[in-house]
Amino acid sequence: MTERLYYEDSYLWEFDGTVTRVREGKKAGTWEAALDRSAFYPTSGGQPFDTGKFVFAGGEAEVTDVEVDREGEVWHTLDKVVPEGTAVHGVIDGKRRTDHMEQHGGEHMLAGAIWEKLQGTTIGLHLGQEDSTIDVALPGERTHLTEEEICLLEDTVNERIRLDAPIRCWFPEEEELAQLPLRKAPTVTEHVRIVAMGDFEMVACGGTHPSSTGRIGMLKILSVIPAKGKARISFVCGGRAAAVFRKYMRCADKAGAALSCPVEKLSRSASELKSRLAEAERKANRFETKELLEQFRQAESTGDLKGITLAAVITGEADPRAVSAAVSEYIEEKGKLLLLAAGERLTFARSADVKVDMAELIRRVGRGGGRPDLASGAGIPECVNVARKILVTEMK
Ligand SMILES: [Zn+2]
Repeated sequence: MTERLYYEDSYLWEFDGTVTRVREGKKAGTWEAALDRSAFYPTSGGQPFDTGKFVFAGGEAEVTDVEVDREGEVWHTLDKVVPEGTAVHGVIDGKRRTDHMEQHGGEHMLAGAIWEKLQGTTIGLHLGQEDSTIDVALPGERTHLTEEEICLLEDTVNERIRLDAPIRCWFPEEEELAQLPLRKAPTVTEHVRIVAMGDFEMVACGGTHPSSTGRIGMLKILSVIPAKGKARISFVCGGRAAAVFRKYMRCADKAGAALSCPVEKLSRSASELKSRLAEAERKANRFETKELLEQFRQAESTGDLKGITLAAVITGEADPRAVSAAVSEYIEEKGKLLLLAAGERLTFARSADVKVDMAELIRRVGRGGGRPDLASGAGIPECVNVARKILVTEMK
């Protein structure tokens, strides 16, 4: 079993150990080494593994993954083989671990506040590349939080972070363990490790934690969405919270500059712009519809089809909503047949009193289908002339 140095000191970035076992890694060209003692954290409890390197006489090996097996042996995935018995100097990427400890520590604080303020119980932690999530079972099976509840949780956690209370981790004796006011029962029965974050939170946890709540920096909830009957809370802490704030501020500043308004008035400006745009689109659409109807009428010919008016129209790309409105209006009149190519989009339509199957006609000249009175599809503009010839020949 590997002696896990991070249990005692979660800021131990460098240590010395000896390789006790070596085996081939899961990926070709990689190796796995177990040490007698290690400060590398193996993936567990939702917290990802540490990365870093082994320095030894004759070279260095990169640590790209760390896992723990059932026997408590910590296995380090390496990019080269380091023989059994080699004395190594382990160097951990402290920046990565600090980030993980900020998110993990913040999750404890958030879970404690959720229990205290909302009587919600948290299930699992997922510490992702961008943000972290926890699923919360709330009383009454609620799957959302109000804005006030989100503020209450953030304020509670951030006030406790600013108090900079000590965070203590230890392995209590059975008698002491039975007396501890844990937020929830431990999932293991042996070697139970406890983390106490000031007076705010106490649970069993084998992870790495900052030495005091102040080192979590701050917590920001990003979203709350329903997931599998629970409320899924996404959040960021520490350096990530500052990075998110910077990113959102930049976006807000750019949007404000684009709309020529201060950030506080962005939402009102955006709504006003949206309604002005919708109105302008409605106007443009009405104009395009009128233009199309005008084109249909100018293309009309009546000579060839026993009193039926045929309009064969080839025009450029047009807004589908305007086409639809113009076509509907046109075939409301009696005795009309319309063959329209707007760009590569075909629309063949007729009045209710004209007995021609437009869906069949469109399939004969291009691709598409629809109802006997109104069909649409795709094809080259020339399809319109081919369809006109068919109608003239067959309806004589
Ligand atoms: Zn923990």
